[in-house]
Amino acid sequence: MKTILTDSAEKAARILNSGGIVAFPTETVYGLGASIYHPEAISRLFRAKGRPMDNPLIVHIYSIDQLPEVAAEINAEATKLIERFFPGPLTLILKKNPGVPYTVTAGLESVGVRCPANPVAREFLRFSQCPVAAPSANLSGLPSATSWETVFEDLAGKIDSLLRDKPSSIGLESTIVDCSGPKPLLLRAGAITLEQLQSVVPDIMESTVVDPAKPPKSPGLKYPHYAPKASIVLYTAQDNIAVGNSSSASIGMSEAPAGVSLFKVCQNLDEYGQELFRFFRLCDAEGISTIYCELPSNEGLGRAIRDRLIRAAGVC
Ligand code: AMP
Ligand code: MG
Repeated sequence: MKTILTDSAEKAARILNSGGIVAFPTETVYGLGASIYHPEAISRLFRAKGRPMDNPLIVHIYSIDQLPEVAAEINAEATKLIERFFPGPLTLILKKNPGVPYTVTAGLESVGVRCPANPVAREFLRFSQCPVAAPSANLSGLPSATSWETVFEDLAGKIDSLLRDKPSSIGLESTIVDCSGPKPLLLRAGAITLEQLQSVVPDIMESTVVDPAKPPKSPGLKYPHYAPKASIVLYTAQDNIAVGNSSSASIGMSEAPAGVSLFKVCQNLDEYGQELFRFFRLCDAEGISTIYCELPSNEGLGRAIRDRLIRAAGVC
């Protein structure tokens, strides 16, 4: 199959509307979209990524006017979060509208909904005549794609079209909050921080803190994720790192450990988030065998970066 590269959101949406699968930019990471009403496109999307069928897709909307088409019930907490953070890098898990197929929600009665802020994403979703189901546009298990070139590397020939734009401004997947149960829970940390969420809905808690023994409520979180081919070693600014071999790299915010052949020193957490997955992919392209990653403290955007690093290292 030939993948059509385009800069036209309208053209990309036309391909999606006729049953195609289309990668598109968002402020978090690039997404791979299909109409929720095209079952064949949805199953092609799972196949193109190699995504397990029990991992539900986030549904993307252009306007909050589309919410009733996707969600059956929007409680008081969800309403507050929508008013404050939509459009933006926040996904809410809500009770699903019966019209949303179970292939999209992987059999769940709930659905993940997001309204992205990236202007090209919004234009694409506006021209799409339907809510768009979209996981991250990467091969399953690899780090998410934060540029169109990375999407092309992973998925060229497997998808109908790729809508090009600048690299994703955030570089980490959306924050996910489950508002479908009795208490709002943070399922995945992201650029909308726990502190920001709690300033609007004070009793939001991290799901891992509520019950660490339970399997994650977000089915996708049980799969290995974000992992480069290189092995990951985590460290903190206080550790003294002895770099073991010559094909090592490092990423963090303090001075790089002596002896690494490739490194990225980020000025702040925003830059760390933007650069992380791009750096993982660069290390793989350069044949790096070990990446030393500095763990930021567990607050603000640091919580999301830590989460991705810990998963990439396979220690949870
Ligand atoms: P991705 O789009 O690849 O970033 O992954 C989306 C994440 O959202 C995965 O971890 C999914 O398991 C999670 N997700 C999507 N829909 C739901 C839902 N209805 N309930 C819980 N988690 C969900
Ligand atoms: Mg993903």
